[in-house]
Amino acid sequence: MRITSIDAILIPPEKPMFGNSRPVLCRVNTDEGIYGYGESGVTFFMGSDAVFALIKEMAPMVIGMNPMETEVIWEKVYSQGYWTKGNGAIIFSALSAIDTALWDIKGKALGKPVYELLGGKFRDKLRCYASQLQFGFYDESVPQFTYEDYCTVAKIAIDKGYDAVKIDPMVFGTTPSADRLTSGDNFGYFSHKTIETIASRMQATRETVGKNADIILEMHCSTNLQSAIQVAKTCEQFDIMYLEEPIAPLCPDATKRLSESTSIPLTTGERSYLRAGFMPFLHNRSLSMLQPDIGICGGITECKKIADMAYSYDVGIQAHVCGTPISVAAGVHLETAIANFTIHETHISSITPESVSFGVYDDFVPVDGYITVPNRPGLGQELSEVALNRAIIETVK
Ligand code: MG
Repeated sequence: MRITSIDAILIPPEKPMFGNSRPVLCRVNTDEGIYGYGESGVTFFMGSDAVFALIKEMAPMVIGMNPMETEVIWEKVYSQGYWTKGNGAIIFSALSAIDTALWDIKGKALGKPVYELLGGKFRDKLRCYASQLQFGFYDESVPQFTYEDYCTVAKIAIDKGYDAVKIDPMVFGTTPSADRLTSGDNFGYFSHKTIETIASRMQATRETVGKNADIILEMHCSTNLQSAIQVAKTCEQFDIMYLEEPIAPLCPDATKRLSESTSIPLTTGERSYLRAGFMPFLHNRSLSMLQPDIGICGGITECKKIADMAYSYDVGIQAHVCGTPISVAAGVHLETAIANFTIHETHISSITPESVSFGVYDDFVPVDGYITVPNRPGLGQELSEVALNRAIIETVK
């Protein structure tokens, strides 16, 4: 089998989506009529146009190769891509999409789901958490401000069957007209007012979900070491499962300092790539869980190695997922096939009716807080006519 062409696919939203998201994917086509889909991770806030262009630039390196040789193709792009040796989210986001599409092809060609190719099914169901409740947990993004807002949205997640939620209590100011909570205030010592708002939102969440549910506290790198210590000390009383991205990932030493300053387990990973990007955190033992994004870290090929490396350090894995049903499927297959899976992220941007409509199958949407792993070959997910009809598609042969 040979790769004959690669379609770069950009899906513009009908109306502005969460975080200005414009999904970018690729479809790798072969001479046997089998094709595969993969998705890039750097497609919200900014980056979509760059990744779309880079997939087209990268395509000639792999066209003509055997798509079953995922390691050979990965290494060729890594060793001959020049800028790949310098790292970068955009370049690895493009490689990640192509690599993931190859695994889809491999599974379809062999008639096996990707999780089976990765080593087998550790579990039939994945426990999921309702992610980013500050955007609401509705059919579209609805900013949450007040104590009552957080009570209401947390109850919606619990009523849908989730027993774990994630909240960034700092994304929004206290009213629609107020600045983002962290604006001009996020480096150094937080004001008492900011800390009070964070505590109020976390208290609303804990009181609503009850003592038996888990809460992940998301920081989106809005804090530095000093303010992260403040937030951690304030929120330890709420029995937090993980503190996510408290510090930018290029500061593993500061993350280590934080881990020594709080009893809350730390996690990060959506802005890191390659095993090398995660290794400092494993060596300094500052993290309890890694969150690689398959669409950024180097694809399924690299993400499996990151997961196995984490296993050696007794560290768990949650794939960061914030995209179309293709990225959800990739995350589910990886998480199904690793011993150190911790929990699956169900991002609001993955379960809005519009996002779900981009996939042919809807069984990657959790039911009662769990995804039952489908056993269709490959990723077991396809872009729908809805997505393809709206997409900008450019083919490289
Ligand atoms: Mg995050």
